[in-house]
Parts: sequence; C-alpha cells; structure tokens
Amino acid sequence: MMKTLAKALKQFAADLIFPNRCLSCLKVIGWKEYFCPECEGELKPSDGCCIKCGMKVCECETQSFSYDGCVSCVFYESSARQAVLNLKEGEIFGCAEYFAPIISEKLKSCGYAASADIVTCVPMGKKRIRKSGVNHSAVIGKSVAKSIGIDFSDKLIVKVSDDLIQHELSAQERRTMVKNAFAPAKNVESIDGKTVILCDDILTTGSTLSECARVLKSMGAKKVYCAVIAVTRFDKEKYGSKNPAGT
Ligand SMILES: [Zn+2]
Ligand SMILES: [Zn+2]
Repeated sequence: MMKTLAKALKQFAADLIFPNRCLSCLKVIGWKEYFCPECEGELKPSDGCCIKCGMKVCECETQSFSYDGCVSCVFYESSARQAVLNLKEGEIFGCAEYFAPIISEKLKSCGYAASADIVTCVPMGKKRIRKSGVNHSAVIGKSVAKSIGIDFSDKLIVKVSDDLIQHELSAQERRTMVKNAFAPAKNVESIDGKTVILCDDILTTGSTLSECARVLKSMGAKKVYCAVIAVTRFDKEKYGSKNPAGT
C-alpha cells in the first residue's frame, strides 16, 4: 500500500516537474525531448520514396495525382504509427514541433519550398473538429509554415461531406468517396498563380491529398506540393481492401 502510494506520489511529482511524455509510448521523458530513446530508435525515415507521388513504390505511371509532389518524414509503422494515432487523440503540438522541421527540410531539398507562397491543410469535417476540438493537420501546417517562413491559412478549402471511416474502404472505394468531398471556402483570399503546400498526417492512397489539390488548382493554384508526417509502406494490391491507415 505504502509502496504503491509512494510510487504514485513519485509519479505525480515527476509529472509536475516533467510533464513531458514520449509522443509514442507516453512514457515520461525529459524537457525538450519528443520521443523516448526506444521509440525514437524505431522511427524509420521514409527515404527513397518518389518525390512526385510520395509513394514507396512509385505510382506515377499507374495513377494520376492532382498534386505536383509529396514529401514525408517516416514510414507509418511501429512508434511512428502510435505517435500519429496519439496525434489524432490530442498529442498534437509536440508531434507537429518534432516533425515540422523535418518536413520543411525535405520540402527545401526537393525544391518545393523555394517557390511556395502559402501553407494549408486537409480540412476536417465539422463533426470531427467538434469531437477533438482541433484539426491536427492545421497544427502540422502551422508549424511547417513557421519553419519555412511563409503564411499559413486553413481557410482555403472546406470539407463538404461528412467524415467517412476510410480505413474500412478499399483504395478504389476511397477514391470514389473523396470525390467532391472538398470545395473552395467562401470569401477566400485569392491563390491565383500561387504555389501551395498542403499538409496532412498520413499518405496512404493519395486520394484525399489529390482531391484537395484538385480543388486548390480549380481555384487557380499553380502548383500544389503535399507534406505529411508518415507514409504507409504496404502494397495495396497485396493488402487487398483493408487499409491500415486513415487517408
Ligand atoms: Zn516512447
Ligand atoms: Zn511516383
């Protein structure tokens, strides 16, 4: 009993002094750290992905994407997967802080940041914003914009359809479902001739990002480059109709 109490008090004190937790396993870690060493060691940088479609196995020849390029930080697996799931549950700011500088470095090295005028994000449906209180893609977008040194706006496009449980859909079903799910926002600032960076958390089939890019281009955007935290590595053909990630 005393031991349990002592342990609880110790934990409570630690939380007061260091309320900083690993973005993935939520273990208490030191200030200015984002992951515990184990989880950080599990992160797999998504090097070698196509810088156009963003995929591990390039789909530029077999699919058409409305965006002009896509960069990611890590593969959506192990500690990165858990961190992205936590992000959706509210562990947002640390995740954005940790990954935004990596995203902006990638955007710079691909030559996408140099011409960029504005950063935006995949909009979330009103229902989901009400539930979680915040659009995590907007938080990522804001951090990326700050990191590159350009403006951020989450007022360019809106989600017009209700949120769908996308992970239960096949790649083909997703493409059909996201069609016309987004629209230009009303009274929006002009993005005519501008290059837009579009942020989200995960890249799976590219259908959501592509649809948002299509809307941005219908509004006059010259180029749209996507930036995500994590990309799925799985082979959709082999995987079949069940996808392990969100968008
Ligand atoms: Zn951890
Ligand atoms: Zn490609």
